[in-house]
Amino acid sequence: MSDFTSLGLPASLVQSLTAGGFTEPTKIQAHAIPKLLEGRDVLGIAQTGSGKTAAFGLPILAGIMDLTGRPRPMTTRALILAPTRELAVQIDENIRKFAGGAMQLNTVLVLGGVSRNAQVQKLARGVDIVVATPGRLKDLLDDGKIRLNETRWLVLDEADRMLDMGFIAPVKHIAKAIGPRRQTMLFSATMAPAVEDLCKGLLKEPVRVEATPQGSTVVKIDQRVILSGSKAKRGVLNELLASETEGMERVIIFARTKHGADRVTKSLAIDGHKAMAIHGNKSQNARQAALKGFASGQVRILVATDIAARGIDVQGITHVVNYDLPDDPENYVHRIGRTGRNGASGIAITLCDGTETGKLRDVERLIRRTLPVSGDLHLTNETGVQEAPKTARPASRPGPRSARNPKPAFADRRSPAERRPFADFAKEVGGRSQQAETPQRVDGQVNRVRRDPDTGKPMGVKPIGKPKQRWGKNQKDAARVTHTARA
Ligand code: ADP
Ligand code: MG
Repeated sequence: MSDFTSLGLPASLVQSLTAGGFTEPTKIQAHAIPKLLEGRDVLGIAQTGSGKTAAFGLPILAGIMDLTGRPRPMTTRALILAPTRELAVQIDENIRKFAGGAMQLNTVLVLGGVSRNAQVQKLARGVDIVVATPGRLKDLLDDGKIRLNETRWLVLDEADRMLDMGFIAPVKHIAKAIGPRRQTMLFSATMAPAVEDLCKGLLKEPVRVEATPQGSTVVKIDQRVILSGSKAKRGVLNELLASETEGMERVIIFARTKHGADRVTKSLAIDGHKAMAIHGNKSQNARQAALKGFASGQVRILVATDIAARGIDVQGITHVVNYDLPDDPENYVHRIGRTGRNGASGIAITLCDGTETGKLRDVERLIRRTLPVSGDLHLTNETGVQEAPKTARPASRPGPRSARNPKPAFADRRSPAERRPFADFAKEVGGRSQQAETPQRVDGQVNRVRRDPDTGKPMGVKPIGKPKQRWGKNQKDAARVTHTARA
């Protein structure tokens, strides 16, 4: 029998699950829950939409049910860390739904971007579960507003994302504050080397639970690519939105940058569409409002940056449009995972201009699939002006750098996870910097100091490393002098 009772969950919990429409466990739930109830650490790898929240939430709830008494002041029994505020809000909502009327449950959300005081006050009484983003939690920990010595369960949800966002230090700090007497669960959609490292540090003989091979995309999502010039994308998007056959009911559009997202939102409004943006420069309230309007159906289009690529769980998203390709191909998988949730089918359309074909190849390599392509890279915009291919322009000009002659941008398409090992490697080889390897050049001699033949003392050698600061000169002159001095 594959129901929640047979996984070993208490009857009262199963009842409230059934009331919430959960009758059959998903694959990751069926595998992880029994092991977690045994008290094992778990490393869960599953694509988004596979039901990870219940997989870690239900065993924790079952464990809390077994405890007697109240949590002590300023402590929490379980701590769930998530990379984004939206995701934390969703986890908190879901867990309270799972608990339903089966238990009296105290949870607190500890998030940045909103008032600290209310959070501190709720924590003061002691709670069952804290769902937090790492930054704010570490703040409260450092200020002595929360103690983690009583915490028995630690969950790291979307761990790969957490590392990408630079949360490694607070996460390690927090885990250390909890101490070794804990059960740890680490969930990640992908298994980057940095995640593997984190697992080694935090998990004790974990059971590895895998729901799908990494990097795979949900088959039910119909994916395709439309080539167009970058300025023509707006027109292509408008056509798609107007198309009856396409049937774009609830659309999430991904842009690469915050400004890009704002620009797309603005032009959508001008073109007569109801759209709202969600990204890191928006206040937390604005982000929640956008999400709410989108989920309720008041707003047809949500424009988002990659921060929203994970965690957002809105039912009935018919289309994901990649207005830009993501820098990190893994984000493609997370973006399109916003549609086709819960076994529903969905459509993902990627708009690709001439500068993005490399990124498209990276995506195809990751998902091990060639995507069907239509359109034309030299598609013109409404004004009829055809864009010059970007490669026709020289990458950079010789001569001193200035505002008009900036350093050419090197497109580093490796993911942060891939980049990190090199930094580690540099540390391992003794942190040898370039300066140390640059031989001291003194009149053709290499690595030798010229000495005074009489006294044997080293003769004054000008350091070659850093050029002298030239305060007071304007930037352009300073740059010119530096440039020739180095040449
Ligand atoms: P993930 O964290 O892996 O992306 P979620 O935990 O957010 O996935 O779950 C995705 C969706 O599936 C949610 O809407 C959730 O309510 C639903 N869901 C999860 N488990 C079940 C289940 N056993 N039965 C029915 N729906 C489920
Ligand atoms: Mg999740």
